[in-house]
This record gives sequence, C-alpha cells and structure tokens, in this order.
Amino acid sequence: MSDAQQPSDFDSTTIDEFEPVDIFPSSEDMDLRPGADNCYKCTSCDTSCPVAEVDEDFPGPKFQGPEQWRLKRHEDVDVDDSIMSCSNCMRCDDACPSSVPLSQMHNTARGEYVEEHMNKLSREYLRNRMLANYRTLASIGSKIPRISNFFMRLGITSTLGAKIMGMPTERDMPQFATETFRQWFKKRGGSKVSNPDKQVAYFHGCYSNYNTPEVGKAMVRVFESFGYEVLVPKQQCSGTPMFANGMLKDARREAEVNVRELGKAIDNGADVIASCTSCSMALRQEYPELFDIDGVDELSERTYEAMEFLRIHEDLHGAIRESEVDPQAFAYHAPCHARNQGLDRQAVELFRELDGAHVEDVGESCSGISGTYGWKSEKYETSMKIGAEMFDHMEHAEGEVGMTECPTCAMQMNHGTGYEIRHPLELLEEAVA
Ligand code: SF4
Ligand code: SF4
Repeated sequence: MSDAQQPSDFDSTTIDEFEPVDIFPSSEDMDLRPGADNCYKCTSCDTSCPVAEVDEDFPGPKFQGPEQWRLKRHEDVDVDDSIMSCSNCMRCDDACPSSVPLSQMHNTARGEYVEEHMNKLSREYLRNRMLANYRTLASIGSKIPRISNFFMRLGITSTLGAKIMGMPTERDMPQFATETFRQWFKKRGGSKVSNPDKQVAYFHGCYSNYNTPEVGKAMVRVFESFGYEVLVPKQQCSGTPMFANGMLKDARREAEVNVRELGKAIDNGADVIASCTSCSMALRQEYPELFDIDGVDELSERTYEAMEFLRIHEDLHGAIRESEVDPQAFAYHAPCHARNQGLDRQAVELFRELDGAHVEDVGESCSGISGTYGWKSEKYETSMKIGAEMFDHMEHAEGEVGMTECPTCAMQMNHGTGYEIRHPLELLEEAVA
C-alpha cells in the first residue's frame, strides 16, 4: 500500500482546539526587518561598499543588515557600534541581487543605536546633531552672510571646530550666499511663467538655498524655458543628514512638513522636482521606507530629479542637439545616490550631443564625503582614501572644472583637486535657457 493510501488518524473536528506552540518565546519583541531572510550571503553588497574597501575594521553591509537583525533575535544582543561607520551611500542597495532592503535596515539600526546607546551629552552626539541639522545653522548664518563667512574663514574657527566639535581642520567651511535662493525667487515675483497645466514644485534643499542659489536659479530658468510654472513651496531639510546620523526623530519632524507642503502642490496637479540627488532619494525611497505618513507614497511616486523630469516629459535631447555653448570640458562624477536612482549616465549621455561641451565620466568610485561623513575628524582619512580614485581620474580628465549633482560631492571634488565644480543644470541653462 502506498503512503497516499494509508488510513489517517487525523481528526479534523479537533482543529478549533489547536494551540500554537511558542517556539521563540520572545518572538513578539523580535525586531527582525522584513527581507533579512532573503539574504543568501553572496557578499555582492560587501564588495560594493566603499567604506569596507578602505577600512578593514568595518564589517560591511551584510553584517550591518541581515546578519545583525538575525543576531538581534537574541534579547541580549545590541546593535553594534560599527553601524556609525556606515556612510549611508546606499551603494549596497543597488548591489544586492535579492532585494534585501539594506539601507533601510542600516537606517533603522543606526536610529536604534543612537537612541538607546549614545550618550546625549557626548561630543560625538552633539557634533553629529549639529551636522545633521545643518539647515538650522545655515538659516542663522545666512541672516548675516558676510560676517558669518568672515568668521568661517578664520583659522581660529577651524581650530575651535576641531578641538570642541571634532571636525577636520583640513576642510574649508562652506560659504553662505549673500542672497538665498528663496529671497531671489521672492524678489523676482515668483515664476515668470503662469501655466496651471504645467506646474512643478521645486524642492531646493538646504544647500541650493543657503550656499549655491545659482543652481536653483538655473533650475527655474531652464524649466521656464520649457513653459513650466515653478512653485517653491514651504519646505524643511530632506532629512538626508539626519538618516546618516541616526537622528530619525529629527528626520520625521522634517518629513512631516515636506510631505504635507509638497502634497498640497501635488493635489493641485504639480510634480515635485529636486536638483540634489540625495534630496530626491530621500523623498522617493527613504521616506516611504521609514515613515508611515499620510501622502508619503504619493510624494515618492511624483518626485523626480530635475533633468530626469525633463528627459521624460520634454524633448530634452532635441533641445540640446539644437544648442551650442562656448567650448568647455568637465570631469563629471555621478553621486552614489544618483547611481541608486539609475541616473548615473544621464548627464554624460545628454551633454554628449551638446556642441562645445565635453563631459567625461570620472568612473564609478564614491567621492568619499557622503554628506556629513567626511566632516567628522575620525572619518576624514577614510573619506579621503575613498575619494582618491575619483581625484586621480579627475586630474586625468580634460579641463579643470568638475561637475556633479550633489553639493557635498562637489565639496569633496573641490577639496581633492582645487577645481571649480558646477551643477549639470548650470550647463543646461547655458545651452537652452
Ligand atoms: S550604505 Fe554604503 S557605507 Fe553603508 S554599508 Fe552600504 S555600501 Fe557600505
Ligand atoms: S548582496 Fe544581498 S543577498 Fe548578497 S550578501 Fe548582501 S544582502 Fe545578502
């Protein structure tokens, strides 16, 4: 008799009395992120990690993600402090063939580590909180930009920054613009185009507002040249430096305002565009991964990087093909967060068709600064080791001007080579606006 023909003793009438067996007594408290069990230990993430490549003490993304969450099944295992050495470049997300949500796990682990294990009066915590809340500092500094810039340039400011806050003396402090982007936009009377059928809401982020308003101005002029009415809603920091420093409460506070205010523009038919690829990354990926806020998914779906939006909705290639600029060469670096959004070849391929411009990709390496990461003295050396390949390729590229979409990558490119750095939107403005 086959097994299938065996009579069964199983009595289906008793099924309602079944009591589940409690295999893991602490399973209700277990904080195992969904997706941890999808990891099949291929180590692709580890080989893509720029920090693990130069810092032999960093255990890499596989440990920070799935392994750490599995270990946390045991109640006595805390988040490892090495999570603070992850720069949040998010390259590991892209490398994983099994869609393990690595950066989401890292962000959650970092938030838990900072909340539960970091001394809130320590120099490291205070320094990280200050760096994460750059917008607050910048809004104060830019009220008196000339005086702020004078003090930022003084050697004593840098020495005090190193001694008191643990910031590297080697870096030059960012300079504030004498007029913020928002002040400029208000002074010109808002958008020069009125078009209820073609509206975009611009998320300028902190750096374009306080430090490089020329990027925001270029963005406005380019979009107006394609017939768009540009709206500039109220907004806070995207939260990117907060995620990277485990300040998830601060990030949520900012995200709530951004989702609400940008949501109003979306309800009126606008799409959201960003000139900084880390800002678009936060709105698209990190917000829905980390925060349960009404409207967060819609914001994620309706957010674009600025040139990406034009590439999709307008004949950007055609406009570029018909244009011409004065001869100039750029060494282009694709930020890690642009890479994560599939935008790493965008600028090079678009400008290939622009008469007069020569844009050379300087390779796949990370710039090493990763937002606030390279602004910490204990991470400065790692940051520069990671950036070395990019500096070298920039120096071998034609010309002495760099190009990138990310403001902190721009700082690192300038720091490592001395080159002036421009945003692709500035070249696009020259070509089409
Ligand atoms: S986010 Fe970047 S630094 Fe962090 S583990 Fe992933 S690849 Fe490494
Ligand atoms: S790349 Fe993905 S599957 Fe491979 S080890 Fe890393 S997390 Fe696991």
